[in-house]
Amino acid sequence: CGQCVAHCPTAALTFRNDLEKLYQALSSDKIVIGMVAPAVRVAIQEELSLESDLAMAERIATFLRMSGFNKVFDVAFGADLVAYEEAHEFYKRLSRQEKLPQFTSCCPAWVKYVEQYYPKFVENLSTVKSPQQALGSLIKKIYAKKMGLNPQDIFLVSFMPCTAKKFEAEREEHAGVVDLVLTTKELSQMIKASGINIKQISPEPFDRPFGISSQGGLSFGKTGGVFGSVVSVLRDEIGISREEYDNLLEGVKIAKITLKDGKSIRAAVIFGLANARKIMKKISSGEFNVDIVEVMACNYGCIGGGGQPYPNDSRMRQKRAHILRETVGIKTLLSPVENFYVQKLYQEDLSDEHARHIIHTNYKPRKRVEFQDIEILPLPKEEKT
Ligand code: SF4
Repeated sequence: CGQCVAHCPTAALTFRNDLEKLYQALSSDKIVIGMVAPAVRVAIQEELSLESDLAMAERIATFLRMSGFNKVFDVAFGADLVAYEEAHEFYKRLSRQEKLPQFTSCCPAWVKYVEQYYPKFVENLSTVKSPQQALGSLIKKIYAKKMGLNPQDIFLVSFMPCTAKKFEAEREEHAGVVDLVLTTKELSQMIKASGINIKQISPEPFDRPFGISSQGGLSFGKTGGVFGSVVSVLRDEIGISREEYDNLLEGVKIAKITLKDGKSIRAAVIFGLANARKIMKKISSGEFNVDIVEVMACNYGCIGGGGQPYPNDSRMRQKRAHILRETVGIKTLLSPVENFYVQKLYQEDLSDEHARHIIHTNYKPRKRVEFQDIEILPLPKEEKT
C-alpha cells in the first residue's frame, strides 16, 4: 500500500511502471514467457470491476497468449518446488541442530530487513530461492536447454503482487534470470488497454511442465502458506503425530508440531515487519525459542502486497484470502509431494546437490537504510475507471 511504500524500512518498495518494456519485448524477436503469482489471480478482478472468478488464473493465461506470450507458467509450481526443497533443508538443520531458527526467504522485503537489521541471522535465512527466482532459474537454465533455446533469446516476465519483487529480480545474485516484473496493477492496465473483456475469453490451463500446482503451492499467496506447505511435506515424508496452533497476537501465530520420528518443532508464522521486529528482538535475546519462522512483510501476506489494487485495506485482504482459500479448495493435489512434475524434475534434473544449486542462493549483511537516504515519492493518483 502507499503507506507501506512511504515507510518501508528496507526501501524495497518503490513505485514504477514497466509496461513499456513489455511492449518492446512483445514486438521484438524474443521468446516471451510469463509466470503468474498466486496472489495476482485473487485480486486483479477488483481492478476490472468483476466478481470473484475461480478461473481467473487460466483466463490470465489465455489473455497473455493472445497478447503474444509464447508460454505462460504458474508461479505456484515454483512454490511447490520451494516448499519441497525448504522442508528438506529445514529437516537437515533440525536434525543437526544448526542454523536454527530457519527463516523463510520468499519475501524480498523480509530478506532485506534481515540483511540490514539482523546481520547475525543472515545465515538463518533459507538458502532456497523464492518461487519467482527458483522458477525463473529453471526456465532459463533447464527448460531452455531441453527446448534447444538460447536463454538470451528468452524474455521472462513475472506477474507479482508487489514492487519488492522488482527489487528481488534486480539483485546481483539473480542477474539474468527474470527480465521484467509487473505488478497486478500493471497487468490490469495492460488488460484494460487491450480492450479485451477478460471475462469473455475462455480459461485455458498454464503450459506444462511448470503449470501444475498443489494446494500447498497456491497457498503461498497468503500468510502461513509457506510454513503450511513445509509442514505438508514433513507430514508426507516423516509423518506427524501432534499439531497445535495458537494466535499470539494479530499477525503472529505459534505452532508446536511433533514428528513421528520423535522430533518436535516450534514455529512462528508472522505477517508485517512491525510484528517481525517484536519477535526478532525476543529471538535475538534468547527469550523466544523457535525452530522455524515464516515472515511475510505485508499484512495477510502477498494478497496485501504493494502492487495490488486499491483499496488495499483489511476488508479487501480478507476478501482476497477467502477467494484464495476457495481456489486452493478446488485443487486436487494436496501437497507439493504429490506434484508429479516436481518429482519428475528431481528425478531428471535436480537429482544431486550440485544440480540443486540453481534453486539456492546466499545472502550477506547489507548497509542499513537511514531515513535521509530514502526519497519519499508522492503517491500515484488513483485512476478513474
Ligand atoms: Fe511482496 Fe509483500 Fe509478498 Fe513480501 S509479503 S513478497 S513484500 S507482496
